[in-house]
Amino acid sequence: MNVFGKIVDIRKARWANRQESWGLVPTMGFLHEGHLSLVRRAKAENDRVAVSIFVNPTQFNESSDLDAYPRDLQRDLAMLKAEGVDLVWTPTIEDAYPTGYQTNVTVTDITTKLEGASRPGHFQGVTTVVAKLFNVFQPDRAYFGQKDAQQVAVIQQMVRDLNFNLNIVVCPIERDEHGLALSSRNSRLSEDGRKRALCLSQALRSAVAAYNDGEKNCTTLKLMMTAHINNVAGSKIDYISIADRMSLDEIEIIENGALLSMAVFIDDIRLIDNMIIE
Ligand code: AMP
Repeated sequence: MNVFGKIVDIRKARWANRQESWGLVPTMGFLHEGHLSLVRRAKAENDRVAVSIFVNPTQFNESSDLDAYPRDLQRDLAMLKAEGVDLVWTPTIEDAYPTGYQTNVTVTDITTKLEGASRPGHFQGVTTVVAKLFNVFQPDRAYFGQKDAQQVAVIQQMVRDLNFNLNIVVCPIERDEHGLALSSRNSRLSEDGRKRALCLSQALRSAVAAYNDGEKNCTTLKLMMTAHINNVAGSKIDYISIADRMSLDEIEIIENGALLSMAVFIDDIRLIDNMIIE
């Protein structure tokens, strides 16, 4: 497994054999089974797999959040080697944003909602860095998790709008045995916080169950989820949403499926989760 930071080395490895297909898995590191599910899917669908590890400062709104983001490169590299990954790309901040950098990629409408409304500038940071990864690496396929549902929608929009020549593959959310969506941020939860954090998936699951029992009214479903979360000590709701899966606009009655999503602080750790009604 090669590990490179410099773009020149990455490009050389990428194009060493032009016949081979490459899958790219962009990550911010501190890897878990969720990331590894993307890596395994990429391995199954491509001749070669590259993983990028970069904690992208421009997608963090608060420097305290950036500073607190967990990192362990040696552990990540050992995990990726065990998965048979071919190439790991570990750019430094100077590699990604050299002095004088002044270009950004902005997706407009769908970035104004949900995560975008709560975290201004977040998606511009995401799309700019992902566009750079795609431009440098030119993968045949890139792998993203449904865990970040809006991120997937935003990247698909960017790929369509800017004619990137690759396929975006969306992988299902990996959860622990209790239903907690795996996240690098979970490592910051206390043992008790981890138990309380189950309220996100429980609230989503109970709303899906209520829908399956005939409740289609989103106000009612959102009130149910809100009550469930507010019952849990140390929880603070950022948003609870039932939105159209394409536009991400809030809907009132579920007729053609929906994306149920939420961001909730448990103690001071911001967690997101979602479920889809087909
Ligand atoms: P991150 O390192 O948090 O930026 O995540 C890198 C990629 O892994 C993103 O495409 C995420 O959506 C995906 N991912 C993170 N957690 C999970 C999970 N629990 N299940 C599936 N994919 C995930």
